[in-house]
Amino acid sequence: MTTTYPPLTETEAAALVARLRTTHRSGRTKPLAWRREQLTRLRALLTDNRKAIAEALWADLRKNADEVDRAEIDLTVLEIDDYLENLEGWLAPQPAEIAAPHLPAGTTAHTEFDPLGVALVLSAWNYPIYLLLTPVAGALAAGNAVVVKPSELAEQTSALLARLVPAYLDPGAVALVEGGVAQTTSLLAQDFDHVFYTGNGTVGRIVMRAAAEHLTPVTLELGGKSPVFVDRDADIAAVAARIAATKFTNAGQTCVAPDYVLTDPDTAGALTTALARAVRDLYGDDPRASDGYGRIVNERHFDRLRKLLDSGRTVIGGESDRAEKYIAPTVLLDVRADEPVMQEEIFGPILPILTVADLTEAIEFINDRDKPLALYAFTGNEATKSRLIAETSSGAVNFGLPIYHLTVPALPFGGVGESGMGNYHGRYSLEAFSHRKTVFDAPLT
Ligand code: NAD
Repeated sequence: MTTTYPPLTETEAAALVARLRTTHRSGRTKPLAWRREQLTRLRALLTDNRKAIAEALWADLRKNADEVDRAEIDLTVLEIDDYLENLEGWLAPQPAEIAAPHLPAGTTAHTEFDPLGVALVLSAWNYPIYLLLTPVAGALAAGNAVVVKPSELAEQTSALLARLVPAYLDPGAVALVEGGVAQTTSLLAQDFDHVFYTGNGTVGRIVMRAAAEHLTPVTLELGGKSPVFVDRDADIAAVAARIAATKFTNAGQTCVAPDYVLTDPDTAGALTTALARAVRDLYGDDPRASDGYGRIVNERHFDRLRKLLDSGRTVIGGESDRAEKYIAPTVLLDVRADEPVMQEEIFGPILPILTVADLTEAIEFINDRDKPLALYAFTGNEATKSRLIAETSSGAVNFGLPIYHLTVPALPFGGVGESGMGNYHGRYSLEAFSHRKTVFDAPLT
């Protein structure tokens, strides 16, 4: 079923933003107490409604309840708890050392975080709770009012959030708008103080163009192909278990999922055997029957992915069923760089393995393409690690445990180049949704 959302004209969107701006101007969203209260309520929204959230995500993506608990609810709660524990300290004015001969004696200065005003958060469907509410938590922690737009492609989750958000959060400062392109276009015409977008680069460009009209800063959390380099010295059984668990979770629909593997020809063979075992350990002999294995979000993405199955030689999986939007965990060997599966972000359960002669060729391969959101490598060799860090550019470099760097609130998460701009999580979200204001105070006499 595809929901038809009520239209939102530009005039209605303008009235909505004006209403939130009035709240923000009144000063209500600025005190630490209000921010902490909203964060505590957001936490309760998540923990009170685990069952309803799990049901919505099962309907939208056939995501199982354990995964919903871990990857959607608990990760968002972790971010909220980080604010509840640290926000007061982070908001403390930062004194600046400014003693200089050209300034009057006694001049002091500090910096402090100033809320930007009214933020817009536009999110994707693949982790429709976590990817929406984590930036919302950051916007609230920074003392902003916020317009929240869930992805229309996760429609049950969108409908649930449309009920829960006004019930838990301050309706004068937080407004949730459901809808697709039409509603988003009306929102993007407005003068926001920050736009935070998660999704693909094509829409990222639309968002940035619209924001430019108002000189509104943007955070763009985009995607791309995140490579995995597997060194010949690595423990292949352990590597395969970690690649399989992170590639095939949510049926590969994760922005930082391993996209493709680069390794030498000998290791490619051993890795294939080990991946077959790892997939069996995760999902049994028939992944279609496993409650732990997800489905593709819609027919359009299914059809796109189905075509990518024709690249290379299928050595694991390959089965698909359009009626169920099922694509088996699939590994492709002997893939060439000019084949379709290597021309776009896969965003599905298909893992191509490409062979390279050595590390130098792997680095060249990576640098010939868009800067990835994450670069993964499995190697015990410190010199190899150093070269990968120094000679490539990506949102993050992660040795040994794909995806998990994003689960740590203390680490900035974001891309570079085609994989995005700006970053967030923990105090980095506070920075994204605040202006760092200089306060300078020179005595008159
Ligand atoms: P999507 O289609 O759900 O789009 C995201 C948002 O853009 C939605 O709110 C949607 O309504 C809006 N939108 C779509 N078309 C629009 C248009 N023409 N004008 C205005 N707004 C429009 O998400 P998606 O792009 O299918 O998500 C998948 C992509 O997102 C992948 O590339 C993935 O890597 C990336 N992603 C990145 C992250 C990250 O954190 N960096 C996380 C998840 C997904």
